[in-house]
Formats: sequence, structure tokens, C-alpha cells
Amino acid sequence: MKKWNLIVDVEKCENCYNCFIATKDEHVGNDFPGYAAPQPEHGHEWVKLHTFERGEMPMADANFMPTMCNHCDEPACMKVAENGAVQKRADGIVIIDPVKAKGQKQIVDACPYGAIYWNDDLEIPQTWIFDAHLLDKGWTKPRVEQVCPTFAIESVKISDEEMAGRAQREELRVLKPELGTKPRIYYKNLHLTDSLFIGGTVIDGKTDDCIDGAEIKLIKGGQEIAQTHSDCFGEFKFDGLPLQEADYQLEITHGGRSAKHECRVSSSAFLGLISL
Ligand code: SF4
Ligand code: SF4
Repeated sequence: MKKWNLIVDVEKCENCYNCFIATKDEHVGNDFPGYAAPQPEHGHEWVKLHTFERGEMPMADANFMPTMCNHCDEPACMKVAENGAVQKRADGIVIIDPVKAKGQKQIVDACPYGAIYWNDDLEIPQTWIFDAHLLDKGWTKPRVEQVCPTFAIESVKISDEEMAGRAQREELRVLKPELGTKPRIYYKNLHLTDSLFIGGTVIDGKTDDCIDGAEIKLIKGGQEIAQTHSDCFGEFKFDGLPLQEADYQLEITHGGRSAKHECRVSSSAFLGLISL
């Protein structure tokens, strides 16, 4: 059985808001009986953009991530819904019935991802429906994917086994896996939102020139945990480190010269110029 999944590459998202706007365009003022009642003009972010800033100049990055209903296989929202107001379709999509869900505010509170919004006027919970109304008419992809200029969003309709294989091969992750909700929205490069980096610039202590190709070892608790080389600007970066306070040691070698550098970091850090 093939089911829908969405893969979002955080590294490719440029925060252009096209996915947010396309969802507004599709739903504000438009009624899709059986799928979704009109979205209010203000207040709802069925597709929501998040910003994550790391580091400090001259080594800093800003990363962006859209979130939406995860179309969970174990949906917390469905567990509290009465009268079958939340349904899991055979193709993996979760739909909050706009008629049956009237008055059921507990559905909003049940979602651990904050993906459901309460429509005050209609008194119903609402969320992103994966454009099920369009897919059922033969569309091959949801609008969020269609409008993304950087190809950061990809929808795939494949078996759960194929998806599990792809997730493993491409190191895809879901949000809050510990909850056991089994999301169908997968993220690539999620480390850009929940890990830290350590970087610096290696220079020649005599000439102040950048050193290309210096070998840098990252050591934690006496164990080497990573190795890299400086680039033609003398820069190096270790990314994907746990976002918690820790002591690290750097061992830098090049052309028979070496240096050691110790640091304690709790967030992404640029260590500045390191002379050899
Ligand atoms: S993300 Fe929230 S609203 Fe969507 S299926 Fe999961 S629990 Fe339900
Ligand atoms: S459309 Fe694509 S690039 Fe633009 S905000 Fe959405 S995911 Fe990011």
C-alpha cells in the first residue's frame, strides 16, 4: 500500500514563505466540504516557518524550517476526537472533519506539535490537509511542493517499507520521535536546527596568511570524535555536535607545526584565529 510522505530539506529552505502563502491562497475564503472549511484571514499558520540562528560573525548561519501537520500514523489528535471527527485515510493523510469536529477544542490541545488552529467563527479545529482535496482530483503533488523555488519540499507516495529505507539512507528524521506519534513529515539536515558547530580560522603565525589543508582533530573526553581540514580561507567547521555545554580540545597540525586549543561551548562558536 502506497502512502503519502513529505520530505523537507532544511538546508534548502530559503524562508521565501511561498509554501505559507500557497496554503493561505488555497484555503482562505475557500470551502472544501469533507476536507476543510475556509481558513480565517488572520491568525492561522497551517504551514509555519521557523528560524534558527547559530554562531557569530564571521561564522554564522541562519536556517529555516517549515512545519505543518505531520499526518502522524499514531495521531494524538485522533485519540481525543469524538464521533470519528479525525480520520486516518488509507493513503496516510489525516483529516479533521470540518462538520463532525465542531465544538471539539480538545483536538487542538491534543496535538503535541501545535499544528492545529482553532477557528473562532466556525468553532472548529483546523490544520494542513496535505492538499488531499487536490490529490484526490489527480494532482501529483501538494501546492507547498509545487511553489517551492529551491526544491526544499518533496512529496512521495511509496510503501512504508520503501520510506523507512529512504529515511535510513538519507538520514531523514521526524520531529519529536520520542512521542511515538510516527510522523509522515520527514526532515533532511535537521541538525541545522538542533545541534551546534565549532569553527575557526587557521593562520600562519609568522605571515598571518591563511593555512589551507591544516589537519584538525576534535577531541572530547580524551577521545577523537571528528577530523577535518581547513579550506583555502583557513576555515574549518565541525557541525552536528550535541546542543549542550561540553569541553572540547582541538589539535591542529600542518607542515610539521602544531597547536592545541581548548574550549567550553554551549552553543555554536567561532574560535577566531588560531596561529600555527
Ligand atoms: S501533527 Fe498533530 S494534528 Fe497532525 S496528525 Fe499529528 S497529532 Fe494530529
Ligand atoms: S517554499 Fe520552500 S524555500 Fe520557500 S519557505 Fe517554503 S520550504 Fe522554504
